[in-house]
Amino acid sequence: MSRLLLATRNTKKLVELRRILEDAGVGDVEVVGLDDVPEFPEAPETGATFEENALAKATDAVRATGLPAVADDSGLSVDALNGMPGVLSARWAGGHGDDRANLELVLGQLRDVPDERRGAAFVAAAALVTPDGSETVVRGTWPGRIVREPRGTNGFGYDPIFVPEGESRTSAELSSAEKDADSHRGRALRELLPHLRQLVS
Ligand code: IMP
Repeated sequence: MSRLLLATRNTKKLVELRRILEDAGVGDVEVVGLDDVPEFPEAPETGATFEENALAKATDAVRATGLPAVADDSGLSVDALNGMPGVLSARWAGGHGDDRANLELVLGQLRDVPDERRGAAFVAAAALVTPDGSETVVRGTWPGRIVREPRGTNGFGYDPIFVPEGESRTSAELSSAEKDADSHRGRALRELLPHLRQLVS
């Protein structure tokens, strides 16, 4: 059985990748996270694009561990804000990871934007880097719109203000199974499947 490192400490992301591989019949692989390998210095995410950040994280992880590695980077892209918060999604209101302040800031910025111009998308880039130096980077997009009031308690980040296309509920009102089946991260990881299959064959 081969080992694949997912460069994250987020157990939900590990579970999601394991399930996607299992559903696709890619069985002969053990997915481990950063907590399962010896610690190494993690570079800050300073890239201008999701792709750059994902590739940098995966490259560092391969260099430090010698394992093939997958890394992702994601965020919210709002049409009326010219694609921002984008790579700054986690720290849009200043402090890193203050979800409530981040979504309140976006709501304030969009207060006067009419309903027909409230389009947005969650975007995720996923990178696969192997010890022999091959690099694959893909992108998954989950289109939708920004509502005027937060709703729902599931998920994280901007989920309470994002309604996916074809839905009336926010992504914080979807179950985690419903969200994983459709989300930007799932879409990006599924794009990587042919490459992961080749890796473990
Ligand atoms: P990361 O790539 O998982 O570090 O996510 C970066 C930031 O993007 C998070 O802190 C959230 O603000 C936002 N984000 C990414 N994916 C989602 C999502 O599925 N729901 C809500 N917010 C998200």
